[in-house]
Amino acid sequence: MTAFARSEYRTVVVGAGIVGLFTAYHLARAGAGPVLVVDRGYLSQGGSGRNGGGVRQQWETRATIRLARESVAAYRSFGREFGYNPWFRQGGYLFLADSEADLARLRAVHDVVASEGLASRVLDADGVARLVDGLAPHAVVGGTFLASDGVLYPFPAVWGVYEAARRLGVEVALGADVGGVTVRDGRVAGVTTTAGAVATPTVVNAAGGWSGALSRAAGLAVPNVATRHEILVTEPMKPFLDPMVVRVSDGLYFSQSMRGELVGGLTVPHPPGTAAGTPSSTAFLVAMARALAGLVPRLSAVSVLRAWSGFFDDTPDGFPVVGEDPRLPGFVHANGFGGHGFMLAPAAGRRVARCVLGEATDLDPLLFSPGRFLGPARATTAERLQLG
Ligand SMILES: Cc1cc2nc3c(=O)[nH]c(=O)nc-3n(C[C@H](O)[C@H](O)[C@H](O)COP(=O)(O)OP(=O)(O)OC[C@H]3O[C@@H](n4cnc5c(N)ncnc54)[C@H](O)[C@@H]3O)c2cc1C
Repeated sequence: MTAFARSEYRTVVVGAGIVGLFTAYHLARAGAGPVLVVDRGYLSQGGSGRNGGGVRQQWETRATIRLARESVAAYRSFGREFGYNPWFRQGGYLFLADSEADLARLRAVHDVVASEGLASRVLDADGVARLVDGLAPHAVVGGTFLASDGVLYPFPAVWGVYEAARRLGVEVALGADVGGVTVRDGRVAGVTTTAGAVATPTVVNAAGGWSGALSRAAGLAVPNVATRHEILVTEPMKPFLDPMVVRVSDGLYFSQSMRGELVGGLTVPHPPGTAAGTPSSTAFLVAMARALAGLVPRLSAVSVLRAWSGFFDDTPDGFPVVGEDPRLPGFVHANGFGGHGFMLAPAAGRRVARCVLGEATDLDPLLFSPGRFLGPARATTAERLQLG
């Protein structure tokens, strides 16, 4: 006996975060059931309930820009498709440079983004000051801005996809930990969980920061590394800021929510891995307070309401891992989204579903396939704009 409705599924998705849910939703829409999504925790326990809600199309590579652009379109129509409003607010993303070297880097990003037909702009210091009320004098030399980037509330997005997937017949089992992947005749045959074992020919590893552990439990060496990142929310203030602001030099990012709170983070170093759980640290609060108050001095008087942390699932080249593992037929990766899985999930989930169904995708295997990490390194491209 298991806690699941069936003993066998066509696909088992491990992880009920935004990536796993979008994947299950697209599988169900394609009529490829039965699909089981298993999560050891509650909905939004992983990164999908702990992020800054940023959705941007300013990236260094065309491959990421195109996925992000498709996701922007998906979040714009999300309310109509899913019946939940994620409050996607396109106030733009403003990248700040406080040195000429960083501005040169942003100019190069702008050139790629603009050549993709997006209306990115390079700003001088005055142009930046017009977008950030109260900016400290001489804090920046310039920046770039794309008005169609934006911010959303992650929770209604997760709930919307969850409800829609369930309406289409996807079974979502929360509180069941997948401990292992059963292999028979060299391919996936099922999973073992704390709620019992199920048979399946296909497992999707959408386990976020724990994806490396799941792959390794299936006998697969992968380079994914979980890194802990902290974030906070302040008391509400009168609206003063439209864009998400990101500083290149230290990764400081913040946006103002529609309730007036500032939501933002800054990377302080933590040992890799998930062992420490998700606490917040005084070091982060101090670094964040200094950075914010230095950039917008009047924010030094604002109180922090709450701070928390979550895991990025990082890959060596900054691209996610999407596709079947060549070493284990039936084991499909949907992971390695770093600090940007929420903004890529609508586009990625669609493609993961196609991989599960054995259909071709437009993803360059040199950039996205799990096989790119096997054998001699081939791709020279990397997605390095891992900020905000
Ligand atoms: C502080 C912070 C800020 C961020 N800001 C942004 C941002 O502004 N924009 C953006 O796009 N992204 C952002 N991200 C990244 C984004 O949150 C993630 O990339 C995204 O949510 C990953 O979604 P996921 O579905 O892959 O993983 P998750 O949401 O982490 O879901 C994985 C799920 O798998 C489950 N699981 C893991 N292992 C097992 C197992 N063995 N058995 C059963 N269940 C298992 C977990 O319980 C979890 O619920 C941020 C992340 C953090 C931490």
